[in-house]
Amino acid sequence: MAYVVTEACINCKYTDCVEVCPVDCFYEGPNFLVIHPDECIDCNACVPTCPTEAIFADDELPSSLEHYADLNRELADLWAAQHRNITAKQEPLPGAEEAVRDEAKSERDIILEWND
Ligand code: SF4
Ligand code: SF4
Repeated sequence: MAYVVTEACINCKYTDCVEVCPVDCFYEGPNFLVIHPDECIDCNACVPTCPTEAIFADDELPSSLEHYADLNRELADLWAAQHRNITAKQEPLPGAEEAVRDEAKSERDIILEWND
């Protein structure tokens, strides 16, 4: 089992989750975070810190968000290779409050990847 970041995180980066993770298994994209499933120790510490309720245990994912388990693995591998491990809280992205309320999010056209 592992924990999974889902679409409510897109364009927010509140990063409260990162501060409490005991194994530093979050990886950062330009506008989204993921959890590396091979590094997560299933401690649940990040879940109550997330103001957008974006994080789920993989066996408790709502059916509409189940594909985020594979997406977290794929992007965690990619961003790990790009040295994008994130271990400290950052300022949220500009417009984060509006992004939390955006119900039209869908992942592939909105989750950005690094160009470098
Ligand atoms: S606290 Fe929630 S919304 Fe913020 S970066 Fe972490 S998972 Fe994303
Ligand atoms: S469940 Fe624990 S180990 Fe896994 S990402 Fe959250 S804080 Fe980190």
